[in-house]
Amino acid sequence: MNITSATFVKGVVDPNELLKERLPQVACIGRSNVGKSSIINLLTKQKGLAKTGSFPGRTQQLNVFLINNKFHLIDLPGYGFACVSAGGKAKIFDMINGYLFGEGQEQAKVVLIVDGYVGPTKDDMEMLSALEEHGKDILVVINKIDKMKKSDLKVALQTIQSTMGPHTYIPFSVEKKIGVGELTNAIFGN
Ligand code: GDP
Repeated sequence: MNITSATFVKGVVDPNELLKERLPQVACIGRSNVGKSSIINLLTKQKGLAKTGSFPGRTQQLNVFLINNKFHLIDLPGYGFACVSAGGKAKIFDMINGYLFGEGQEQAKVVLIVDGYVGPTKDDMEMLSALEEHGKDILVVINKIDKMKKSDLKVALQTIQSTMGPHTYIPFSVEKKIGVGELTNAIFGN
């Protein structure tokens, strides 16, 4: 699918506000600084749509974007940012969990973004397990592959995949614009 329109609809802090929405929802999740906003902006060809953070962890709400009048893309707050207070972390945790795993919440897909250079962190693995336990339709994006040495790339990708298990993986780079078409099709269909 070609993304021809993408607009910001609203930001909500209460996940229950999304229960009444009728369009299929695609959730984007990852740790802070993984490049989630940059990926959303690249896919939608709109530089300022999602706010890329000079201050990681600042997107502390569920941001809803309307894609081609057909889908809602839900940009979740990044997790695992060290400089957020314990109280702030708990609030983000509740928001993420409430939206992903709360009663009646449904996502057509959950896009989990990991940093290919760093590899999956403990937080990433915990998120993955929770998504698996809840039977979510998971798509894993391995971002920042431009930071990996060409000679190491294949083995590094294999290592990530064997750590994270059998899922669909899209190697990606915002910097080099690698994987854009593949990811768009994997999320929204051809
Ligand atoms: P978010 O917190 O997950 O929304 O992350 P951002 O989109 O704000 O990106 C965090 C930082 O990673 C920024 O400095 C981006 O320029 C950088 N970044 C994002 N994607 C890539 C990528 O594919 N390659 C490289 N080298 N840097 C990236």
